[in-house]
Amino acid sequence: VTDQLTGLKNRRYFDDHFAIERKRAKRYNKTLSLIMIDIDHFKKINDAYGHQVGDAVLQAFSGLLQENVRETDIISRWGGEEFIILLPATSLENGMMAAQKIQSAVNSYHFPDVGNITASFGVSNVELNSNSNRESVNQADQALYEAKKQGRNRVVAYTDIKKIDSDT
Ligand code: GH3
Ligand code: MG
Ligand code: MG
Repeated sequence: VTDQLTGLKNRRYFDDHFAIERKRAKRYNKTLSLIMIDIDHFKKINDAYGHQVGDAVLQAFSGLLQENVRETDIISRWGGEEFIILLPATSLENGMMAAQKIQSAVNSYHFPDVGNITASFGVSNVELNSNSNRESVNQADQALYEAKKQGRNRVVAYTDIKKIDSDT
């Protein structure tokens, strides 16, 4: 259940617990939010400082995630330098605040060897009655993609992309 490099939960654990948290949320009439995170220009860090320094950045970054969310939140390494956090009993507004808190922590952290780095964040609220877990993850991913497109080092909500779509 644990990712070797970072000590975070792996994807399988995340999927299992997302299913459990979804049932709990329905039963207790709570809401769930997701934050998808991707480190900005991580390839450049590897290229400039080497893979080992890159690995150390991933470890320090994971520590920042752990320090800045609730104990009941589930942090998972989704892929290389991509992470997902499931926040039980959290509205979209509070999910956005959680992402912004992590963003500030990242912005003010001095990573060994490389100094400052940034990350981009996509936030979605899990629509318990209409969307599958996969669809909710996909929405957080689309919001993350929008955050990259807008210039990185920012937090975007899925509902905000929907607004952008209807404006254009
Ligand atoms: P963007 O801002 O668009 O996200 O750019 P990026 O360079 O972060 O994105 P890209 O997906 O192109 O690069 C991710 C890099 O992460 C490429 C890959 O070599 C590196 N990577 C993936 N897993 C690991 C790992 O476990 N350790 C290290 N050191 N690097 C990894
Ligand atoms: Mg990536
Ligand atoms: Mg990246």
